[in-house]
Amino acid sequence: MKQFHITYDSDEVFVDKLEEINQWCQENTAYKIIFRIYSQDMDKEHIEHVCHVLDDKMPEALYLGCTSNANILNGSLTESEILIICTVFEYKTTQALLLQYPFTENNYKDAVDGLKRYCEANPWVKSVEMHATIMDMSMKGFCDEMSTLPKDIQVFGGGAFNPNMDDEFAGVFSKGSGFYEHGIVFLLFGGEDFHAYSRYISGWKPLKRRFRITKANKEVLYELDGRPAFEVYKQYLNIEKNENFFSNTLEFPLFLERGEFHILRCPLAVNEDDSLTMSSDMEENAYVKIAYGDPETILHSIRQDGQMIADFQPEVIQTFSCAARRAFWGDVNISKETVMFEDVAPTAGFYTHGEFVRIDGDMLNFNVTLVIAAMREGEPKEEKKFDFTGPTFKKLDKIPMIWRFVSFIEASTAELEAMNNKLSLAAITDGLTRLYNRAEIERRINSALEEIEGTDNDKVHLIMLDIDNFKQVNDVYGHKEGDQVIIALSNILLETTGAIPNSSVGRWGGEEFMVLLAGNETGDVMNLAEKIRTSFAAVHFSKAGCQTVSIGVTKVKRGESVDKMCSRVDKALYKAKDSGKNRVIKLD
Ligand code: GH3
Ligand code: MG
Ligand code: MG
Repeated sequence: MKQFHITYDSDEVFVDKLEEINQWCQENTAYKIIFRIYSQDMDKEHIEHVCHVLDDKMPEALYLGCTSNANILNGSLTESEILIICTVFEYKTTQALLLQYPFTENNYKDAVDGLKRYCEANPWVKSVEMHATIMDMSMKGFCDEMSTLPKDIQVFGGGAFNPNMDDEFAGVFSKGSGFYEHGIVFLLFGGEDFHAYSRYISGWKPLKRRFRITKANKEVLYELDGRPAFEVYKQYLNIEKNENFFSNTLEFPLFLERGEFHILRCPLAVNEDDSLTMSSDMEENAYVKIAYGDPETILHSIRQDGQMIADFQPEVIQTFSCAARRAFWGDVNISKETVMFEDVAPTAGFYTHGEFVRIDGDMLNFNVTLVIAAMREGEPKEEKKFDFTGPTFKKLDKIPMIWRFVSFIEASTAELEAMNNKLSLAAITDGLTRLYNRAEIERRINSALEEIEGTDNDKVHLIMLDIDNFKQVNDVYGHKEGDQVIIALSNILLETTGAIPNSSVGRWGGEEFMVLLAGNETGDVMNLAEKIRTSFAAVHFSKAGCQTVSIGVTKVKRGESVDKMCSRVDKALYKAKDSGKNRVIKLD
């Protein structure tokens, strides 16, 4: 595999360079020639002109390309507005095939179906490179469909760019199909000697605090934890609603949790209603975390993850890097994160509107991410070891200050969360018994009754308990022994109801308890009450010996209030006391 590049300035230079390539191909083995054209120049006629020259001068070569935010050559941002990369395949076994389809929300499925048919008909296919126009499109359906391709086929690529967010114009093109403003190009690669390896690297790190997406529609993020999404940026990061919003949030995009993957999404704009327009679609009920990026942390990650690319020993490296990364680093520094790949192999590509890569079968659509595809024909020619994390790698003995701050924030957040959990538990439980307190058990009875309102479910029962002659225990054996008796009954209540779904146990008052059961038959509830009674009677207290409990049971009546139901179970308990204690009485 051999790589040439042309930075298009004029036809003359272009044609000369093509002739040089032709010459090389005649003198060497060249089985297939593929050109990639990335154009920062949005003039469709200019792009078509370049294509015509290629058709004319190298009719046997394949080509594909798209509009780009900027181009990458020799691992660095290039000033060349139209970059033309030529890859020559030197193995007879290597195969390549171009497909191009219209691409909108309505017909993306046809594109994937077409690709699938070709992949199934051509078992040589090992990887698929894609360029697509994706502005204003949800990529979720497309990614789900792409995930059904044969599992071992790799996919990587990027979205065609337009510098103006309000102008949807962007384009893809390929030999034989021309320029599509809403299109997708697939380049299928394979053959027994062709090898590709692709991965994604972001370098941004998530903070631990999670927010649930409570309202979202496509790429508009309305609410996080029930509050307007912008408030998160305002409250935690002091980012204002002004023209600097995009550049300020670039350092703090959101990590969207999708299964085991963390996918970066960038807020592009804040809207009047404090919703955020994100770089790609969000999903309701998914979780997001604020991510932070700083140059040192990012470079550290790229060197660590990039080592895998180096170990693959590629002959060419393709980069699909997000235009937002360029905005984050600035043009003076952006190349720092890709230039090291040039030591491994010729590295070229473009700054995209959305990056794609398939990991373990899942097709993923990223933002603010660097997707790298490494390719090789045959086995590595010589045993070359590239050491990204070796002696030249800055070991970070001195930990960057931002890492110390993040560690401080994470530690304080964890402490606060633990304290909060403790406080909220304390607010609903009883200190002596660990059972719910009266207010909480009442709240639970209330919501159980609300839940069955208007349905034909009436399987809600209450069991009320009161220890018999308890005053005597206190008077004769002391308050401490009394507490032990209360704790013993509480433990029996927790143990006997522990495995019952939708059951709650509360301390109603001194030595009175209430059990709520939502979803059981009356017979089972009576058995449970009886079991509690006998278990308690069997306990032997060191001083107080054996004690007993009286129990009332009742079932809900359609449409009745909490008060009504509680007063009936109280009556049942009173009846149990009145008729001799140590028994279970049910009142309907
Ligand atoms: P009955 O069989 O009719 O229920 O008789 P009783 O003696 O149990 O009735 P009563 O309700 O008069 O007694 C309840 C006693 O429970 C009174 C109170 O001092 C005691 N008590 C309430 N809370 C606690 C507690 O947390 N610990 C202890 N040790 N005693 C408590
Ligand atoms: Mg009592
Ligand atoms: Mg009592």
